[in-house]
Amino acid sequence: MVRALVAALSILALAGCASLPPQPDASDRAAAQAGILSFGIQQPDRFDAITVRLDLPDSAAGSVLTFPDSWGPEENLSQSRGDIAFRGLERLPGEGEAYRVAPGGGWITYTVAQDYEGEPDWETHRLPGMRVRTAPSHAFLLGPTVLPAWSQGGVPLTLDLQSLPQRAAFSFAPGDCATGCALEDLANSVLALGDFAFDTRQAGDTTVRSAIRGSFAMNADAMSGVLAGMLDQGAQRFDDAPFPSYLFAVNPIPAPPQGSAVVGTGLHRSFLLLASENADAERLRHTIAHEIVHEWITRRMGPTDEETDAQRMWFTEGATEYFAWKLQLAAGLIDTQDFLAGMSDLANAYLASPVRELPAGELAERIFESEEAQRLPYQRGALLAWHWDILARERGSSLDAVIADLIDGNERQELTDARIRAAMTRRIGGQFDSDLARYVVQGKALDPMALTLPGCLVAIPERSGTVRFAIADGSSGDTCRAELLGPA
Ligand SMILES: [Zn+2]
Repeated sequence: MVRALVAALSILALAGCASLPPQPDASDRAAAQAGILSFGIQQPDRFDAITVRLDLPDSAAGSVLTFPDSWGPEENLSQSRGDIAFRGLERLPGEGEAYRVAPGGGWITYTVAQDYEGEPDWETHRLPGMRVRTAPSHAFLLGPTVLPAWSQGGVPLTLDLQSLPQRAAFSFAPGDCATGCALEDLANSVLALGDFAFDTRQAGDTTVRSAIRGSFAMNADAMSGVLAGMLDQGAQRFDDAPFPSYLFAVNPIPAPPQGSAVVGTGLHRSFLLLASENADAERLRHTIAHEIVHEWITRRMGPTDEETDAQRMWFTEGATEYFAWKLQLAAGLIDTQDFLAGMSDLANAYLASPVRELPAGELAERIFESEEAQRLPYQRGALLAWHWDILARERGSSLDAVIADLIDGNERQELTDARIRAAMTRRIGGQFDSDLARYVVQGKALDPMALTLPGCLVAIPERSGTVRFAIADGSSGDTCRAELLGPA
């Protein structure tokens, strides 16, 4: 606050000396119409509660802020918000928590704090660690669980992190939002505070920041290596500019009663990883790779309709899973045998899935019912994405080009199913439509043996009813790798 006041005073002093008032440049004008999002803590070096404040200018008048009550598997998120105070905003009647900005603008402030006792655990939480985590030593917040969205109108926001301590990392640096960021992007973020290991590295043109708690089978260097390779390959293959900065945040969660857990969520130029410390390196690597692909599928393509997200998971998760394998191969993070083992595992998990013939509509309704239901779009979608990539290549194109087209066509309008399907058909041809109708919409059984594969591969049926993708006799690993990747 003191610094802001000093800045304001020095501007006044300058204006007083000059014969003409200073002319604001375009970015100053944009910032003047922007609101401000601020984060802070209440007591030095204590992370029990985080303060959030939104200052909204007159230009925001009439727009409506809606606070989240659910996100993914998490519900009743309003329980983690408290001490709400506002001025120049009108609380709207109705079930959800929504405010309309009055003429002249206004502000709203609230605190965010954990709404359960102790550490997250598997008995109380469907997915421990996704909910607001605040403790004396650290805090870990997912933007979409704590920040509102504009349900109508809205203005861009600049960012004020001056009230946060040194030991903090947010997906955005204040400089990223000097002329205002969309609230929708700002909410797609992660905030890590306190006893994390914070680090910054350079990966090509990208500054990679990391915030890691706990100790894992992969260290920060190895995780950054995966990140750098994936970002580089994604930019090349999807014909996109590399990002100036990227943040990854890792927080440990308890191991589930049996085995280990690794959960990733892709956010705006950042991702978070929740993992039990007994998770193996392969699984950590693959999850990181998968989350980075989400930067393009679908983040760079435009917003999707969250209500119906589950219905297009054959694309949002299926294509992402395929490219997670393909870009790891391209980046040299895995070899051809690893790639084939990964695709064979997906095929066999699909063949063994009790829900494999669920039509997409029904699957969307039952997506959180079981692990098998959640995994089906990844399995079915990745196998089809592979097959479609090869079909597109037979026409001199590739699935990479479909992704590039969809990123190119982003005019900040909703990424609709019609736009996805049109982009696919354009590069893959008419078989895409019949495949989608048959295997996804109707849920007919897909035979992995009948997929269109690169010429260097064979699909071998095994006695146990499983299938194995392998390099055909007479083909070499190297030429097959080139054939799997196609032109970059
Ligand atoms: Zn995903």
